[in-house]
Amino acid sequence: MQFHLNGYKPGDPGISEPARQDNAMQPGGGLPEHVDVLIIGCGPTGLTLATQLAAFPDITTRIVDQKPGRLLVGQADGIACRTMEMFEAFGFSERVLKEAYWVNETCFWNPDDSQRTTIVRTGRIQDTEDGLSEFPHVIMNQARVHDFYLDVMRNSPSRLEPSYARSFLDLSIAPLGLGCSGEPNGSSRYPVTVRLERLDDAHRGEVETVRARCVVGCDGAHNSVRKALGRAVHGDSANQAWGVMEVLALTDFPDIRLKTAIHSANEGSLLIIPREGGYLVRMYIELDKLNANERVADRAITVDHLIAAAQRILHPYTLEVKEVAWWSVYEIGQRPCDKFDDVPEEDIDRRCPSVFIAGDACHTHSPKAGQGMNVSMQDAFNLGWKLAAVIRGHCSAGILHTYSAERRAVAQELIDFDRKFARMFGAAPKRPGEAGGDGVDPAEFQRYFLKQSRFTAGTETCYAPSLISAEPTYQRLAEGLVIGMRFHSAPVIRLADARPLQLGHTVKADGRWRLFLFADAEEPDAPSSKLRALCTFLAEAPGAPVRRCTPAGADIDSVIDVRRSSSRAIANWPLVRCRPFSGPGRATTASSITRRCSVPTSKLATFSRRAASCGRPAASSSCDRTSMSRMSCRSMLIPSCRLSSTGS
Ligand SMILES: Cc1cc2nc3c(=O)[nH]c(=O)nc-3n(C[C@H](O)[C@H](O)[C@H](O)COP(=O)(O)OP(=O)(O)OC[C@H]3O[C@@H](n4cnc5c(N)ncnc54)[C@H](O)[C@@H]3O)c2cc1C
Repeated sequence: MQFHLNGYKPGDPGISEPARQDNAMQPGGGLPEHVDVLIIGCGPTGLTLATQLAAFPDITTRIVDQKPGRLLVGQADGIACRTMEMFEAFGFSERVLKEAYWVNETCFWNPDDSQRTTIVRTGRIQDTEDGLSEFPHVIMNQARVHDFYLDVMRNSPSRLEPSYARSFLDLSIAPLGLGCSGEPNGSSRYPVTVRLERLDDAHRGEVETVRARCVVGCDGAHNSVRKALGRAVHGDSANQAWGVMEVLALTDFPDIRLKTAIHSANEGSLLIIPREGGYLVRMYIELDKLNANERVADRAITVDHLIAAAQRILHPYTLEVKEVAWWSVYEIGQRPCDKFDDVPEEDIDRRCPSVFIAGDACHTHSPKAGQGMNVSMQDAFNLGWKLAAVIRGHCSAGILHTYSAERRAVAQELIDFDRKFARMFGAAPKRPGEAGGDGVDPAEFQRYFLKQSRFTAGTETCYAPSLISAEPTYQRLAEGLVIGMRFHSAPVIRLADARPLQLGHTVKADGRWRLFLFADAEEPDAPSSKLRALCTFLAEAPGAPVRRCTPAGADIDSVIDVRRSSSRAIANWPLVRCRPFSGPGRATTASSITRRCSVPTSKLATFSRRAASCGRPAASSSCDRTSMSRMSCRSMLIPSCRLSSTGS
């Protein structure tokens, strides 16, 4: 985090200056008649989107939920590495790291071959492979994730707060919706009309009408927005009953504080998820298959049934439940929605979407692999910046089509994975040498878990070529950074102040485009340097994107943030030549900070060429204090092995 950009500001730098008043929330009051984005649902999906949009005070965003207030106890708890990277971009990963349980290892237990009625540990593996992410896989109550989002929203320039006790009734879309040119099509700037019913005692039964430029249904598995769009989910109906309980337990089972998958011979399966805080443990217990048209409620299952099932599965170990913090039985089907917006396939060339659905509203599956909340939040993260870019006039509305295309593919992958994982988890373990049948070989289950760990970490997502994702024609130039995948962070040293940091952490969820320049081995200020030529182009050519896209008077990096990384030896770089390009607090010494790539100090290097930064296009041609201090922090050292690593 960097602050005091335009002078000293007293107080907590995490709290932004409030934006203009006409856009501000009315405390306790009604909703405005017109908004840019209306979000239905304050689950993790809606809050991710709201937090993203709250960063833009020029966008009027509102988020509503039928609940009377914030969530106190949530269901989801698994937070994948990729989600932690997203939390970092929102500025609260450290709070999560401090509070959460870290899933560093996973255990597998199966029937003892010599005595099938007892279980033995058959595997203990590292949960997340080295180098996959700078963050661990963690466990934390969904309600705390909500709290962190709410804090960021509250401290944003928009001071956004959810409008609770409002239930979505219906919506209508003006015939032409949003035009693909980026401008609203037809007569209305606000093509979507939504009706909400107030549920609080003071206004019960009152109906509010809000006109919105875009509406996003983040209203969960029983969603109404999807139904209002006439979109269907396809796949298996809810046919598998599950029990989950969060308990304070007295037990002699040795792996109670590790994530553990247990297959018993005849008593079913159990998944142990230790909880943050050091004491509570969550247990997922697979219950019977439901018959066609049967609901889990018909079975009248109680928490005592769940405890008894867990005790049988854990035999010969004992389990005494001292307190049940929360429990539930539920049924899950694996069903993706056919499309995540209001535009039919055949109309894609004619109009752009105005209504979207995200999260559980468009895909449901079992919770065992801890994917639901993660994939849902990633939906919103994918959509948020695109909506902001279109509404702020930075992009054509055609970019909005990529949301459904990209995320529908991820949902399908998730459901394919979940089907197989759920089947393997639910099947009885095979005996040694047993062939055929419906059972699962314990070793095969463990292998499948390992193989899919990149997918469950959320780092395997790769978007197909589109308007915003290039064809892999030049992939060979940077094999470690796969086109279509997330930017994999690496440890670097910031030139200006010699501070070790993660390169990926310089990217905040602020809607800016990032241009990372990775230097070749040439002296960066040599006349033949390609890096120098590129910087000169970016800084001086009239058609260069940085100049073309930055509005007059805006900061040089307000739309495109250029950062340069180098692995050249710093000792060779003449300090005197750096000086004109280095801002206040500059520093040019390096130290070895590589964790994942152990590279000697001598191999690390940097340069501080600031050609791209000098000159504010259109408005000013001189380096002022702002652009100087911004640019001084943009040159990075990077371990030389990093770019060719295939682990990126
Ligand atoms: C027992 C259980 C355990 C789980 N464990 C995990 C896990 O470990 N990891 C994981 O990643 N996922 C897990 N999941 C899945 C996870 O809870 C969901 O995927 C996630 O909550 C989806 O988020 P969402 O915001 O899309 O929907 P939700 O969390 O369902 O939020 C939807 C919101 O919309 C509101 N809403 C609904 N209808 C309306 C309406 N008409 N008007 C206004 N508001 C409305 C609701 O009140 C709610 O606040 C679990 C699910 C269950 C059931």
